[in-house]
Amino acid sequence: MALITKKPKGTEDVLPKESYKRQFVENIFCEEAKSFGYKEIRTPVFENTALFERGVGDTTDVVQKEMYTFTTKGGDSITLRPEGTAGAARAMLEHGIYNDGLPIKAYYLVSCYRYEKPQAGRLREFHQFGMECYGTACAAADAEMISAAASIFERLQIRDLELQINSIGCKKCRAEYYKALTAYFEQYKDELCDTCKDRLNRNPMRILDCKSPVCSEISKNAPVMLDYLCDECKEHFEKVKSYLDAVKIEYIVNPKIVRGLDYYTKTVFEFVSSDIGAQSTVCGGGRYDGLIEELGGQNMPSLGFALGIERLLLLMEAQNIEIPTPQNCEIFIGAMGDEAYKKAFSLATQIRKASVYAEFDVVGRGLRAQMKYADKIKAAYSLVIGENEIKENKALIKNMSDGTQYEISLDDENFMHEFMEIKIKHEFMEIKIKEETKAITKEG
Ligand code: ATP
Ligand code: MG
Repeated sequence: MALITKKPKGTEDVLPKESYKRQFVENIFCEEAKSFGYKEIRTPVFENTALFERGVGDTTDVVQKEMYTFTTKGGDSITLRPEGTAGAARAMLEHGIYNDGLPIKAYYLVSCYRYEKPQAGRLREFHQFGMECYGTACAAADAEMISAAASIFERLQIRDLELQINSIGCKKCRAEYYKALTAYFEQYKDELCDTCKDRLNRNPMRILDCKSPVCSEISKNAPVMLDYLCDECKEHFEKVKSYLDAVKIEYIVNPKIVRGLDYYTKTVFEFVSSDIGAQSTVCGGGRYDGLIEELGGQNMPSLGFALGIERLLLLMEAQNIEIPTPQNCEIFIGAMGDEAYKKAFSLATQIRKASVYAEFDVVGRGLRAQMKYADKIKAAYSLVIGENEIKENKALIKNMSDGTQYEISLDDENFMHEFMEIKIKHEFMEIKIKEETKAITKEG
């Protein structure tokens, strides 16, 4: 029998007690993206397989080894998205968004699917945050894209991330480079893995990205694209670097970065950390001037990056970066007896209308257990409604941290107002006590 209580290999559940961590980082992504003028794009979790074959490239590891592809009942070949760029570009084209005025700026938060060997920082279902900017060839856009990623890491207080940049040129200058690269790898033809033997004639640059130990060893001394850049690409790269210098973003030039997807041109970059083991790249991106045309659109130079959320969280954990825990309960309303439950329910409803977090007992527990629960959810205030309180239409509300009690009306109309007054009064009292203690300590 299938194991229905076990998640599939390489996937992760995000449980209620820890989901606030994801929400926290996701909020920061969205806020930062918006401050750069980006708006969210949402596209389907699956696309026609041909999109990724064309967009990501049919000699890449992703397409050759990692895609979740299946045939539908209607006979169509469908693939779960392995990344976010191709789907976003497809949607852009399909809806003619580029007629809206350039540049177009879009960000996304997506789940991605790759059939990989699961290990720390490498999953089969993982999540990416990404930003894409369509319709600019200007080097300022490259620098701005990098600075958007950098500002996210800064907001999250991540330390010791190394920004590595490189240029992998354009169609024009790559022709010369491919010749040199093919000549180099030809010498080791028999030692290359089978996939790379095939890549040798079709796309030699992909060999540089192969994860097999033999291929990566051979790649170490391969010629690098930087030495083959045409004047235009050279100038572009120099400009990107000078813009980064202008805003004091530190980087190192790593001529070995090629990125794992075919669509990249000119600037490529990665943010790398030594705190999370072998899967050290948290974020990768670059320019993809040819992608939109490759997908059947007009010439539209564009660029973007994607950040792996699971790897980011691993890194934050490794660096002991604290993520603010969610707001605790403001008020727990205990109840004894049917009338009291109705009252508790209606008061909680009033409070929640003001977007304040309130709870009452929905399990039907005894009063002691109710109060234990109030402790567990760290309620700031609690009150108990019984027969007496219903009769008097008032109750005692207790500050849970110091036990101070206040009388409060149980009128639906007055309750919220009085509760707010009590909270303010209590805070004042706390401040006063603190000041007095300070004064006494000074005198003493
Ligand atoms: P790697 O070299 O680690 O396989 P990649 O080049 O395949 O990475 P990209 O396609 O550039 O990765 O994806 C961007 C980011 O998404 C990566 O930098 C990483 O943080 C994250 N990522 C990629 N694949 C996975 C995965 N299988 N599990 C978790 N995160 C991933
Ligand atoms: Mg990969």
